[in-house]
Amino acid sequence: VPLVAALFSGCAPAPREESPRPEWAIAIQAGAGVLSKSVDDANRQAHLDSLAEALAVGRRILEGGGDSLEAVEQVLVYIENDEKFNAGRGAVYNHDGGHEMDASIMDGRTLACGAVAGVTTVKNPIVLARAVMERSPHVLLAGEGAERFADEMKVERVTQEYFHTEHRRLQWLEHLRLEAEKEAGEAGAPGTAGAVALDRHGNLAAGTSTGGLTGKRFGRIGDSPIIGAGTYADNATCAVSGTGKGEEYIRYAVGHRISALIAYRGMSLQEAAEEVVLGTLKAGDGGIVGVDRHGNIAMVFNTEGMFRGAADANGRFEVAIWE
Ligand code: ASP
Repeated sequence: VPLVAALFSGCAPAPREESPRPEWAIAIQAGAGVLSKSVDDANRQAHLDSLAEALAVGRRILEGGGDSLEAVEQVLVYIENDEKFNAGRGAVYNHDGGHEMDASIMDGRTLACGAVAGVTTVKNPIVLARAVMERSPHVLLAGEGAERFADEMKVERVTQEYFHTEHRRLQWLEHLRLEAEKEAGEAGAPGTAGAVALDRHGNLAAGTSTGGLTGKRFGRIGDSPIIGAGTYADNATCAVSGTGKGEEYIRYAVGHRISALIAYRGMSLQEAAEEVVLGTLKAGDGGIVGVDRHGNIAMVFNTEGMFRGAADANGRFEVAIWE
């Protein structure tokens, strides 16, 4: 060490620790239609515990050198099976008192993607979306046809009762009451599950699964199964999963727009996500989670909160609901 440097090292400001680029990273969301802040502690903690469990599923896979696609799928299976969130079991009720689910998954390495819309008997819609991507020549299958494909692929089907939960039924009844009062109500009470990941091989993946909006009608389909809207992944830019008012996400092609701002305007993921979620969408529309090819994570929302979590190879592991 040169003498001068040695003399001054005692009072020099400590060099800023730049954390190295994480070898893997994952972010998850479980909806921007959050619990009211007045919720009791036990309920809040139960949601945080579920988010941490879901995140740990992804961390285990990525830490072990597994693929981002596998991590995304397995995290979403976990959340779909958890009745607290609006995907799979616990999906919201549509106007007629049934459940119709949408899901999609995308591989950033090849831009391969698969999606299902309006499925009513598929236990894990994200598993079927992956089968569409990998085992069919198509990208998006809807309704009954998607369910026939599930049978061919031996993807598990269940009855509608499986998706029933009391808290969603009460939400639906409340929705019908408000709708009757206003005579023409908007579909409400959203929620979704999404995951984005970068693996040790440098591959990005994104996936999203939802029951849609409470009280939705006429075969309404949201953004979650629309590639480029609710879900997008490209190894050259980022992976994104959105939650919120699906119609707005489709209109602004939110997932692809964020990717395009990175590709064509040279923005960082955080800048691109803020530009779209805080600049283009309106307050109250929703949020996104994203990860870029360097392992940077963005979790941006314009709602009161968003169920979310982030983890990476540098030891980050956090879950949150509000700010
Ligand atoms: N985006 C979903 C939809 O519009 C709902 C949500 O994320 O809350 O179907």
